[in-house]
Amino acid sequence: MDCNAFLAFPADTGGRDDDEGDAWRAHLAACRACEDHVLAERVRERGRDPAGFPCVHLAFHATHVCANHADPMECPDATVVCAPRFREWGLPIRDAEGVAATYVVIRYCPWCAAAVPSSLRTDWHTELAQLGFRNPLAAWDDLPEAYKTDAWWRERSIHGADAAEPAQ
Ligand SMILES: [Zn+2]
Ligand SMILES: [Zn+2]
Ligand SMILES: [Zn+2]
Repeated sequence: MDCNAFLAFPADTGGRDDDEGDAWRAHLAACRACEDHVLAERVRERGRDPAGFPCVHLAFHATHVCANHADPMECPDATVVCAPRFREWGLPIRDAEGVAATYVVIRYCPWCAAAVPSSLRTDWHTELAQLGFRNPLAAWDDLPEAYKTDAWWRERSIHGADAAEPAQ
């Protein structure tokens, strides 16, 4: 099965227990381009745009959805977490219950080595301090809405090319 044939099959072909299902899965395992295509489709099915992430792998893993855990920090199946307000992606550090209180910030995608934009955590704290919020987490309800999401840094250019929308 080549890429064109692979892409012509619907994504649920991977769940089929027949020769075409086998061939489809074999191609998926061997072809990075087609795997990326499938991951991008899954991200779109979740209502998210892969272009808003450093690469399709971080988009796929950071948009993991689980019926049991609304917060990826509490879901043992979530491989990557992201903190949009800090522009950070990280690997969660989980306790015995599978709950993560923190994460290790990553600078490159573990799957394709795409560069992750630098963290804006310090800028977030600096700007909020200038607005009078010395302890932003304690004053969460009073923070300007833009600082609770990625809106505050997406609305403008921060750190030049660093803020450009990553390709792929
Ligand atoms: Zn392919
Ligand atoms: Zn879960
Ligand atoms: Zn990647």
